[in-house]
Order: sequence, then C-alpha cells, then structure tokens
Amino acid sequence: MSKNGKLIFKNFDPYITSPFGYRIHPMSGKNQFHQGVDYGTNDKKLAQYAIEDGEITGCGTDSTGAKYVYVKYPRLGKTGLHYHLDSISVKNGQKVNANTIIGYTGATGQATGIHLHFGWFPTENRNKAWDDKGWEDFEKYEYKAAETTTTNELKYKIGDTVEIDCVYISSDSTNKIVPAITKGKITRIIEGARNPYLLDDGNIGWINDDCVVSETVTTYIVKSGDTLSGIAEKYGTTWQKIYEKNKSVIGNDPDLIIPGQVLKF
Ligand SMILES: [Zn+2]
Repeated sequence: MSKNGKLIFKNFDPYITSPFGYRIHPMSGKNQFHQGVDYGTNDKKLAQYAIEDGEITGCGTDSTGAKYVYVKYPRLGKTGLHYHLDSISVKNGQKVNANTIIGYTGATGQATGIHLHFGWFPTENRNKAWDDKGWEDFEKYEYKAAETTTTNELKYKIGDTVEIDCVYISSDSTNKIVPAITKGKITRIIEGARNPYLLDDGNIGWINDDCVVSETVTTYIVKSGDTLSGIAEKYGTTWQKIYEKNKSVIGNDPDLIIPGQVLKF
C-alpha cells in the first residue's frame, strides 16, 4: 500500500518495492541514493495517469533504453517523472488532466521487473543537472486536490441558435420576468456572468444554461481502444461530425485519438 501511488494509478493502489533515499542498488550492488519511489503493480502493465491538470515537458527513450515522461504541474510547482514505461501515450507539449493516461508500466531500461520509478522535483529545477534537481520523496508529499470551483464553461458561441424555455432581462437570475419558450440567436456572451448568454430574437434576455432545451453538448473523454467511428456510433452521430468539431484537439489525423483527449460534440 502506498500513500500517494494511487494518485497515479487511480483504480489501483500500488505497493512500494523500493522507497526514496539511500539503498543498495539492485543491479550495481552499490550504496546509492534512490532519487524516486518504485511502485510495484503485480507484474501488470497498468495505466499511469496524470495527477491533475498539467503539461508534458519531455518524453522519449533515454540512453539506457528506458522510456520516460516528465509531467509539469503548475498548481503544485512540481514535476513528476514516470520512468521504465512499457509505452508512452502522450506527446511533448500536450496538456493533460487527471483522466489522461501518460503511459503503461513496464521494465524498459535497467529494471529488474515491471515497476514505476517515480521521480518528483520542484519545477524550477527542471533545467539543472540530474543530481541537482532536488529530488523529493513523493510518498512524503502532502497532496491537496484543487478546490472544485464551479467553472462556468461556456457551451455556446455567438451566432448559435438555441431554443430556451425561460428568459431573463437581467444578469441577476432572480430577476426573471418573462418566462417564455422562445428561439433565437446568441448575440453576446458576458464574461464571468452567471447567465452569460444574451439572446436577441425580439425577446431580449439572459439565458441560463439550464434553460436551453434544444441543444446538448456531449463531453467525452477518449479511452484506450476508442475510435472516432466507435464513439460516433455510441452517440448516434458520425465520426466526420465529431472530427469537424474537435479538429483543434485531434489534429490532422482522425484515425489517431489519444486516451485522455476531451471531445465535445
Ligand atoms: Zn527506482
């Protein structure tokens, strides 16, 4: 059992095969400082996830053959190193979140078996030499999840036509004076407002997200093994429609979607 390992494996609580600190190295037999925590997975190539919102700042295969990924966590001011991966599921520069699979646990490089070597250091040391990164014991880190603020994620854009079943004339949602079923174009989006859409169809009003009845937006997080056509079939649409709306996320190749990508359609 570990304290923080499940932040990485999510549905699996790994055990520690080698803690952070001085140890006899399993391959060299020398007393060395172990600059990370080794987590065991019962020899399984389990998925490793990002801890929270972050960014990939490096990935590849090093001179020993070990596959690795660096994930920068801006809120924490720390960077995590996933090492000995069997395979890598992300690209350098990619934005990640707690649903993003970084890669799968393996034994690439100098490893005696399948495990994750997890390194943890202050991001400000990222350009320093390996031994000067100020490696920290991830198991001693006191992780606090970000406070969940209800982000007012905008579902619609200017020009969208929506049908709504209530209308407000004020940005204050308690000041609802014209209940009506109406349809119209969104003409303005007020930044930061609780009801950010201004509709102009003769019934000018502020729209609550809750009020919109004619359109829904599906948010889908890509899982391992997904294809666009498979997702489309499940939601009664076509892969072309999903691709059209998510080109900025997917990129130029609709056949290549990556676990953790967030699609909206
Ligand atoms: Zn290790």
